[in-house]
Amino acid sequence: MERVKEISRVRELVGAAREDGGRIGFVPTMGYLHEGHLSLVRILKERTDFVVMSIFVNKLQFNDLNDFDSYPKDIQRDMELAEKAGVDLLFLPDDSEMYSNNLTVVDVHEITENLCGAHRPGHFQGVFTVVSKLFNIVQPDVAVFGQKDIQQVSGIKKMVTDLNFPIEIKVAPIVREKDGLAMSSRNKHLSSEERNNALALNRSLHRAKKMLMSGERDSSIIIEAMKEEISSVTHGDMDYISVVSFPDLKDVDRIDGDSVIALAVYFGDTRLIDNMLIEFTGDSLNCII
Ligand code: AMP
Repeated sequence: MERVKEISRVRELVGAAREDGGRIGFVPTMGYLHEGHLSLVRILKERTDFVVMSIFVNKLQFNDLNDFDSYPKDIQRDMELAEKAGVDLLFLPDDSEMYSNNLTVVDVHEITENLCGAHRPGHFQGVFTVVSKLFNIVQPDVAVFGQKDIQQVSGIKKMVTDLNFPIEIKVAPIVREKDGLAMSSRNKHLSSEERNNALALNRSLHRAKKMLMSGERDSSIIIEAMKEEISSVTHGDMDYISVVSFPDLKDVDRIDGDSVIALAVYFGDTRLIDNMLIEFTGDSLNCII
């Protein structure tokens, strides 16, 4: 595995891999790697010949500077995990390599009005700007993103279509701990009590799934049941619980087409997100948690 800090060196190495006839796969991350990130690498190993991972904690997407300052880091461990998973090129730019007097931003309207977009001003502009830059630097054939960040997935798919990036976007399932907690670098911040309480996220999604499977379609009834589940462990720290259409992420009163149930809840100072994708095939539905 090559470790590279300079954009010019990424271009050389990716260019050489492409000249050899290789398809290029790309997974952008902010590091402090876990099994969720590594599952994305495995998806690319099956489909491409040369896998690039970036690790860059992108200040532009943090609306809360405390969150940025305390974002967990362990670059030594990340390098070992990335190499073991089969990453060919690890791109570790510093801030000045990515942003020297950057005056350009990328935004995707409408899709960012709801969910995290409504609660984290500027967040998605930061995400789409850095992902555009990384796409132009790496120029992959395929890039993979996790369902865990479902609004990011919707926005990036729209951005790639609107801005004509010749890149195939794959979506990877949410990797969870054995007890159902979605893996996240931020889980490190949880006390053992908070971590235990955070299991309510997954429980509330399963409760919603059960209601859907028994025929409930009213969004507000499902949201109420989920609120009840969450409020049994935490008081008033719910950022949102929303039912939206997929992939355009508009609020829906009734669930009768492809949708997402998404939630963001604080446990102590740590904000966690989770979601369930609901896919309809004819009259039957499939809930992907
Ligand atoms: P991050 O480092 O949090 O920016 O995440 C980098 C990529 O990993 C994004 O595409 C995330 O959606 C994805 N990811 C994060 N957590 C998980 C998870 N538990 N399962 C699958 N993918 C994940």
